[in-house]
Parts: sequence; structure tokens; C-alpha cells
Amino acid sequence: MFGKRIDLFKLFGFTVRIDLSWVVIAALITWSLAAGFFPVHYQHLSAPTYWLMGVIGAVGFFLSIVAHELFHSLVARKFEIPMKGITLFIFGGVSEMDAEPTSAKAEFWMAIVGPLSSIGMGLLFYGLHLLFVQREWPEGARGIVQYLAYINLLLAGFNLIPAFPLDGGRILRAVLWGLKKNLRWATRVSSWIGYGFGILLVLNGIFQFFSGNLLGGVWSFLIGMFLQNAARMSYQQLLLRKALEGEKVRRFMKTDPITVTPSTSVQRLVEDYIYRYHFKMFPVVEDSHRVVGCVTTKQVQAVPREQWDMKRVGEIGGACLPENMIGPEEDAMKALSMMARTGLSRLMVIEGDRIIGILALKDLLKFFKEKLELEQ
Ligand SMILES: [Zn+2]
Repeated sequence: MFGKRIDLFKLFGFTVRIDLSWVVIAALITWSLAAGFFPVHYQHLSAPTYWLMGVIGAVGFFLSIVAHELFHSLVARKFEIPMKGITLFIFGGVSEMDAEPTSAKAEFWMAIVGPLSSIGMGLLFYGLHLLFVQREWPEGARGIVQYLAYINLLLAGFNLIPAFPLDGGRILRAVLWGLKKNLRWATRVSSWIGYGFGILLVLNGIFQFFSGNLLGGVWSFLIGMFLQNAARMSYQQLLLRKALEGEKVRRFMKTDPITVTPSTSVQRLVEDYIYRYHFKMFPVVEDSHRVVGCVTTKQVQAVPREQWDMKRVGEIGGACLPENMIGPEEDAMKALSMMARTGLSRLMVIEGDRIIGILALKDLLKFFKEKLELEQ
């Protein structure tokens, strides 16, 4: 789901990022405003004015979402739930939690503060709109605040739908969790509703599209796809978290890792290691597993073919990156989120300056699958 992200700025200690998908969305919003919303509500303005209003409206929408997510993050911080930052993508944003909320109460307040802040902003912009109308300010300015009032209230309304992981779904989950004291059950019920609602939006989008409402159809389809996917992922993630919680990396690692020495020739590295194990990276070690660096297939590619039997691994390898390494006593969940972030499926397990094992994603998932099958 997440593609490339760009860090924008820091706000109250939270890093605000955008997912690249947001660039597409920003363009779509600007276009929807400049070609649809503004010309319909404010006739007789020029095309450049509509586009300018569209851009300002899109920026205002962006800042409204940042404010909404910021309120989530601030409440989370108050309940001491670690937050990674705020990422904006497809529809709206996500405040990224490092852990599940600690209690139903924390989840409830964390979830509800978002829609409340959007309602607050909606009313604020509506007040501004009334003021602008009364003072007879230019139509362009009136249009923008009117749109921001409308979009913030829409955002609040949409987020209050009880479809997990939307805020409304989180509120529902918090209530169910509080009632039955069973987080897994509460998550299952609310994410099923989220999934069902997402599918409805997708179907509605297709229907709208073919009955001529192209723009509305595309929006409904995109939001529906996002929602059903997010609902499934969040439930999976909860199960994964529950299964791996408190388990140490040591438990899952394979000892006797495949390593090379600095004197190994590039030719042998390719023939006996890369073609045999298909790994993208090998630890370079000296006497009894002391890591002196790493060598990657990328570094091999940079060496001309005819030099392969002359060059040694020690000459072409470099330092190992921190995202390739983890300690044996670290939490398995931490390893998993590192893998998710970097896309690497294997981590070196390092103790002191020695490599003592390799942690592979497939071993974590195998354990998860077995645990799920036995305990359900
Ligand atoms: Zn929210």
C-alpha cells in the first residue's frame, strides 16, 4: 500500500510526510475544484481564477488533514502511545502508531478527537464564510472558505462512519473492546464492517462511473479500495502483533549464517553464493564470525565481468547498513516493522561485532501461520 514517502516538515515533534500517491490526489482535488466545484458555485469568474482557487483549496484541504491527524497524534502522546509521524496518502492521512492503543479508553479519545477537530474547523471556516459574505469580500476568497467549511465537515462525517480503520470504526472498536474486554474480537467485528463498507464503495464507484458520473465514480472507487485493503491489513497486523508480541529475534534466527571472507574472489562469490543462495547481500567476516563489512549484488554489478577472478570481496564490499542488522534480544515485531519499512526480507543478527544468525521474514511468517492455525 505504501509507496515512496517524502518528509515535509516537523510539527510538535511529529514528522509530516506525504506518500507519492498524494501527488496524484492533490492534482485530482485541484482539478475537481477548478473544473467542477467552483465554476458551479461561483459563475462568471475566469479560468485562471478557478485554477488558483483550486490550488489554494487543495493546499487548505491538505492543511486541514494535517491538523486532523495532529490532534490524533497529540492525544496519542498524552496516552503514551508511541507515534512515528503523520503520513498523508490517498484519502486523508494516517497517524502512524508503533503499537496498539493501551486501553479502550485511550483508543476512544484518540479516535474521536480527529472528527471533533474537523467539525471545529468546518464551523470555523463556515463562520469565516459568513463574515466574508457580509463584508462583500471577493468571490474567490468566499469560495475557498466555503469549500474548506464543506470539506472539513465532509471529512468529519466520512471519518465517523463505523468502518475500521476509519475513526468511526476505531470508536466502535473501543466501545466493543470496553464492553467485552477482547481486543481481537472487537477488531475482527469492526474491520469486517470496514471491509464490507469498502466493497460497497467500490461497487458504487463502478456503478457511478458507468452511469456517467465519472469523477464521483473514481473517488468512490479509490476510497473503497483503500478502505477494504486497510481493514484487512489492520486485522492481519493485530494478529501478527499478538502472535509476535514479546518474542525475541533469537528464537527465530537461523544460526550458521552464510558468509564470505574478504579474500573470496568475486567470481566465487557469484558462482558459489549469489547463484546458489540468491541473496542480495552477504556478510563479509573474518576469524570466527567477526563482521568486517557487507557485499551486495549491486557492488558486484559495478565490477566488469573480466575482472571477476582478479577482484576480491574485500576490495568491492563496503560497510553494512544499520537497517540490515538487529540484535538477538530485540523484539521480533521490531524486526518485522524494519523489514516492512525497507523491503528487506533478511536481517543479520549481530551480537557485539559478530554475526550469530540470520533472521528471515519467511521464518517469522511461518511461526505466525502455525500459531494462528493452532490457536483458532
Ligand atoms: Zn482521523
